[in-house]
Amino acid sequence: MLHDAPTDSAVYKTLLESTRAIPWKIDWKTMTFAYIGPQIETLLGWSQSSWVSANDWAERMHPEDRERVVDFCVSQSRNGTDHEADYRALTASGDYIWIRDVVHVMRDGNGEVDALIGFMFDISERKRAEEQLIQLQRQLEEYSYKDGLTGVANRRMFDSVLETEWASAQRSGQPLSLILLDIDYFKQYNDHYGHIQGDDCLRSVGKALAGALHRPRDFIARFGGEEFVLVLPETDGDAALQVAERCRRFIREQRIAHEQSSVAPLLTISLGVGTAVPRAGDRPLDFVAAVDRLLYQAKQGGRNRLAAAQWSRDEGSMRDGTR
Ligand code: GH3
Ligand code: MG
Ligand code: MG
Repeated sequence: MLHDAPTDSAVYKTLLESTRAIPWKIDWKTMTFAYIGPQIETLLGWSQSSWVSANDWAERMHPEDRERVVDFCVSQSRNGTDHEADYRALTASGDYIWIRDVVHVMRDGNGEVDALIGFMFDISERKRAEEQLIQLQRQLEEYSYKDGLTGVANRRMFDSVLETEWASAQRSGQPLSLILLDIDYFKQYNDHYGHIQGDDCLRSVGKALAGALHRPRDFIARFGGEEFVLVLPETDGDAALQVAERCRRFIREQRIAHEQSSVAPLLTISLGVGTAVPRAGDRPLDFVAAVDRLLYQAKQGGRNRLAAAQWSRDEGSMRDGTR
């Protein structure tokens, strides 16, 4: 015996209701649902029969998405333009699910908008992946200017900050100070306490130094291994000395034991402190090199001290003073 052939509409209904996309139809004149697939209940928890007017749709939308999406869909529909909208749909249990609604505008014989038909797709997985990607992207951006160990800015960031502040000082004629500092006998520290504690120590030093900066434009970066650099815009030699002394004091107050140091029982630093009023044609890297020489002087002078000087290109180096 032959089976009764299903009618065309029964076939379409089965097809529509067995896809993961949820079909729906809204009558344009009455703004009511003529149809919505039963799958909607599985996805959002609201029963098929609870979708009566277009308002039910709008109200079951995240408040932050509602105005944008409703305005967009209404204006597109009025123009007779097919369109798509992404939004967060409210579930019966109070959560939100990302939906993409793909809408086709149907017209009657006179060309008037008659109905909207469409499919809702669950795009929450895609959105999750997108958000993870954005998060990763943010992390990458952060890694590209932050030192991974200490959390202060890295060398690359220092290069660009120095360039910016140098140019700014050239325009304004304001002094720019730079402090380059290096932990004393840090090799012995690592040898004695181990690298893990060495890393902890670098984190503490980074934190103490960051705390010694008071102005919003003051900047600190890890220059390399156990060296840090401070950029102090609009800061003259005397003010820079105060910051340098504060750095020494903050590190002293951390009371980090360093038994193998030849200068003190606690961790100490040596600093080069330079101040420049850069003119056109002066190069920031020459200034950095001069401050590095000051740091070297402080080391040579016995460590746990600073060497400070005013920089000028004509003299080729610094007028210095060690303390
Ligand atoms: P000085 O007083 O002349 O500066 O002596 P120093 O031993 O501090 O100088 P040196 O440059 O010889 O040694 C620096 C040490 O810093 C060597 C290296 O093992 C250590 N160091 C550099 N980067 C790191 C790091 O990321 N973690 C740890 N734990 N140690 C580091
Ligand atoms: Mg050192
Ligand atoms: Mg060093």
